[in-house]
Amino acid sequence: MNMKLDPWGAVNIDNYSKLFHEFGILPFDTVYSDISRPHKYMRRNVIFGHRSYDLITGAIKKGKPFSVMSGFMPSGKVHLGGKMVMDEIIWHQQMGGDAFVGIADRESHSVRGMSWEKCRDLGINEYILSLIALGFEPNGLIYFQSESNRVKDLAFELGIKVNFSELSAIYGFSGETNISHMISALTQSADILQPQLTEFGGPKPTVIPVGADQDPHIRLTRGLADKMNMFHVSVHPYKISDYESGEMITIHSKAHADVIVQSATQKAFNSIEKALKDVQMNDVKIDRYTGHIDIRYITSNRSDVILETTQNIVRQVERKLGGYGFMPTAATYHRFMSGLQGGKMSSSIPESHIALTDDPKEAAKKVKRAMTGGRVTLDEQKKLGGEPDKCSVYELLLFHLIDDDKELMEIHSECVSGKRMCGSCKSLASELMSDFLTEHQELRELARDRLDEYGL
Ligand code: SF4
Repeated sequence: MNMKLDPWGAVNIDNYSKLFHEFGILPFDTVYSDISRPHKYMRRNVIFGHRSYDLITGAIKKGKPFSVMSGFMPSGKVHLGGKMVMDEIIWHQQMGGDAFVGIADRESHSVRGMSWEKCRDLGINEYILSLIALGFEPNGLIYFQSESNRVKDLAFELGIKVNFSELSAIYGFSGETNISHMISALTQSADILQPQLTEFGGPKPTVIPVGADQDPHIRLTRGLADKMNMFHVSVHPYKISDYESGEMITIHSKAHADVIVQSATQKAFNSIEKALKDVQMNDVKIDRYTGHIDIRYITSNRSDVILETTQNIVRQVERKLGGYGFMPTAATYHRFMSGLQGGKMSSSIPESHIALTDDPKEAAKKVKRAMTGGRVTLDEQKKLGGEPDKCSVYELLLFHLIDDDKELMEIHSECVSGKRMCGSCKSLASELMSDFLTEHQELRELARDRLDEYGL
């Protein structure tokens, strides 16, 4: 049966590799070696997939502008799942990215029926305080969707390029879905594309760190970014001879058959053709047609440079004509933590998760009561070893509580070899959790006094 991903529904992904085949998400190891100081989620395969993340690794390597953006729907307490997204945003900010965080109050109001006052309260007192306490710097932008005319205006523009059938195919909307819920989906796309607007320096690689259930937003936005652009750039293999293979880049105009539009297109093509010739790519052959330009070249280690140069030129011309020139949205996808009692983690079941505002002593008790991958008896555990990959306590250590990979690997191997008993892991994890929450909550109080630095 085909998998359904529902950003507003229950998360139930039993096999992450299915996402590669069914949705075209790429395994993260295709870009991992290009990252010089990977985050622990990357090193530990917690981030398992991506789309177009090579745009981000390229920008980091070359010191070029890029952005990181993600949003939080204020619907309750922020728990360790939300912390993961925050950690990823902050890591990209530290890598030099412009960071954007949207508080999705329009989504919460339309989908959950949350009042605007409650959205504001949860947005500040749950999400934003934790985000700042975890290290988000004031040079990033934190905003509420409902207060951003820029985002709301862009959402309206995006709405012209998508119809009900397309939204239904992506999100499973039915005739019962309220219109504001649909508008909130477009608002998410506007959040995601906002960093590429002229006010923020124009088109640039932008990564959205998300859990796999949020992929519908990424797919919708990638499609919309392409639809909003005036030109479509595609690459095809091109056979030169039996001995030589080549590639062909085609630049299509999306202009319709209107005479005025056609003449504007020809002028734009003149500019693109001239700019391509000006950069002296002697190893390419340019053919100009009425509705498109073809660029042919022999496949080589210059292929990527030729494509990037062409895309940059097309974007520059488009922006001079008043277009957006959006780059495709990049995304990273992380695994979900399981619930502390096994099964799924659920915001509505306090025993299944730890909130960042939980009392540290209570949180430590939750860890002590958590389900492990241990055997029924100590003898069996010594003989067979435990199963850390099915253990929610080990997950806490892996996702959040132990930074040192060597220490974590030791725990893993001691567990599987039967040397380690669950009691020692639970004591360690509950102590580390209590320490983390105590310190985090102190930092949250300091953050409260710094909200004005963030324009809040
Ligand atoms: Fe989990 Fe530790 Fe028990 Fe292994 S020994 S199953 S890692 S709690």
